[in-house]
Amino acid sequence: MTPSSSVDVAVVGGGVSGAACAYFLAKAGMKVALVERGDLAAGCSGGCDGNIMAQDHQPGYDTNLTIQSNRIYQQILPELDWDIEYTQKGSILVIETPEELDFMLDRMKQQLACGLPVRFVDQDELYEQEPLLAPGFLGAIECASDASCMPIQVAVALARAARRLGAEIRTYEEVKSIKRDEQGRIAGLVTDRGEIRTPRLVNCCGAWAPFLGKMVGLDIPIIPRRGQLVVVEQTAQVGHRKISEAHYVVAKFHPELTEGTDSETLKYGVAFVFEPTASGNMLLGSSREFAGYDTRTTYPVIRAIIRRAVRFIPALAQLHCIRTYAGLRPYTPDHLPIISAVEEVPGFYIAAGHEGDGIGVAPLTGQLITQIILGQETTVDVTPLRWSRFARGAGRQAG
Ligand SMILES: Cc1cc2nc3c(=O)[nH]c(=O)nc-3n(C[C@H](O)[C@H](O)[C@H](O)COP(=O)(O)OP(=O)(O)OC[C@H]3O[C@@H](n4cnc5c(N)ncnc54)[C@H](O)[C@@H]3O)c2cc1C
Repeated sequence: MTPSSSVDVAVVGGGVSGAACAYFLAKAGMKVALVERGDLAAGCSGGCDGNIMAQDHQPGYDTNLTIQSNRIYQQILPELDWDIEYTQKGSILVIETPEELDFMLDRMKQQLACGLPVRFVDQDELYEQEPLLAPGFLGAIECASDASCMPIQVAVALARAARRLGAEIRTYEEVKSIKRDEQGRIAGLVTDRGEIRTPRLVNCCGAWAPFLGKMVGLDIPIIPRRGQLVVVEQTAQVGHRKISEAHYVVAKFHPELTEGTDSETLKYGVAFVFEPTASGNMLLGSSREFAGYDTRTTYPVIRAIIRRAVRFIPALAQLHCIRTYAGLRPYTPDHLPIISAVEEVPGFYIAAGHEGDGIGVAPLTGQLITQIILGQETTVDVTPLRWSRFARGAGRQAG
């Protein structure tokens, strides 16, 4: 048994969201316990890409979340004693058809209006930058501020920084139930290794957040959305930075323009995403499927990912895939995370539901939860992130 302790706030879930919350809460002077049932990054944060990418988001509020969070990444880097492999090489979204080109140029204007440093890269420049791309692409949209990192290292670095600020990091300890006082306020939690007395609990359990919600009678509408990835062997550089296809942004907002896409790609929600890593390996992704809590990779999806990747960068066909893995994105019906107090359970907070953006938005998440708990002005307006949008009965919908 771990000795029972008494803290100002318990953060449950040791992925990037929980580690960021623990770090910012400890930095604000609170006594914090971070409780994780596995090792740090045992959940989706250990089964994903590391893009801090704003240009694939809906222009406006959504884009701004990543812009702000990327700034916070840069601010906190000197405070971390662990390399998170942060690089800011920018990203490009490659355009294939005239219809995509019109859509993406129009979208670029909206992105510029919200302060994103995007520009059109014409065909000649695109092939100068990325000579191994298949012929025939019309150009790309480049976003110079997009960055990348190594998500597992982000969780570790933030948890280490939180510990230096006095936080207890309790790994391999699972929360089994939550205690409340006679008024229904949070009073503590019971784990498989002991008890923690606390008046505040932050649910950072990602796709598993609904299970913690159930412990206090909440129905949190987060659904696991599996994503599979392929790791390619180290080799001479095949691409210089993050490359993805404009097609999937178009598909998200204008599905009628996706005619002609092969059925496997559509069925498994596959979009071409190429990410060179600091180690020299490359990540190819990824897929989007509702497959429950199954974290296995599957042959048809891996095949569809590889086919799509080779279509964009034919030289990849000469290389070996050394590993595949999958993670469960915490999907919400409106694609925005819940970063909020829960009024009906005083002391209960949620920082979960980031779907495909949790790595990028982690530092902002930690900062916002801290500001919400301390009643401070928040870095961004948190109205769209409030729990009450679902508590009021916004319907659950998967699709
Ligand atoms: C293929 C793929 C690619 C992705 N690429 C990107 C990307 O490029 N950029 C980006 O920003 N995002 C990306 N994402 C999304 C990102 O990975 C997630 O949004 C993020 O990891 C969520 O982090 P989290 O800390 O909220 O949840 P998780 O990392 O899932 O952490 C939740 C933790 O809670 C723990 N837990 C659950 N129940 C309990 C309990 N009862 N007691 C104690 N602990 C508990 C779990 O063990 C887990 O470690 C991708 C996801 C996938 C699948």
